[in-house]
Amino acid sequence: MERTFVMIKPDGVKRGLIGPIITRFEQKGFHLAAMKLMRIDRALAERHYGEHQDRPFFGELVDFLTSGQVCAMVWEGQNAVANTRAIIGATNPVQASPGTIRADFALDIASNIVHGSDSPESAQREIALFFDGAPALETMYRMTGDGAALN
Ligand code: GDP
Ligand code: MG
Repeated sequence: MERTFVMIKPDGVKRGLIGPIITRFEQKGFHLAAMKLMRIDRALAERHYGEHQDRPFFGELVDFLTSGQVCAMVWEGQNAVANTRAIIGATNPVQASPGTIRADFALDIASNIVHGSDSPESAQREIALFFDGAPALETMYRMTGDGAALN
């Protein structure tokens, strides 16, 4: 059984697409192993997307990721990394195949609804970052103790 990290980005959460997105992974046969709604800080966003730190869009990407709540999830099942990437579709929604999440729900590369790990190694790193790391625990504490402040 392989595990992968999937995150619904702030545009997907704001548009009320958590349900339809989860449905697609469940329909395919994957098992939802962990999930949390959280607000991430710039440090976590920068670490998550560290491979893109020299790209011209990096600042915009971090701004976007920290602009609202995200839904962080761990999905497990057969070839979870490759299969979830296929369900998510190409990075640019214009190039994504019909039937993929990005083709069906998004218009723009900067707000393409959902993230999925690109390899088993990335999945392990990202799951640790979001589910085992200090920022995630701190956020869970804040959600329990002061949920209203997150909106
Ligand atoms: P992914 O693995 O398919 O999400 O794509 P990448 O790892 O290449 O890029 C990470 C994220 O950066 C993408 O999902 C986009 O949201 C964003 N991104 C990629 N290219 C661009 C770009 O040219 N402009 C902007 N604003 N964002 C981009
Ligand atoms: Mg990527």
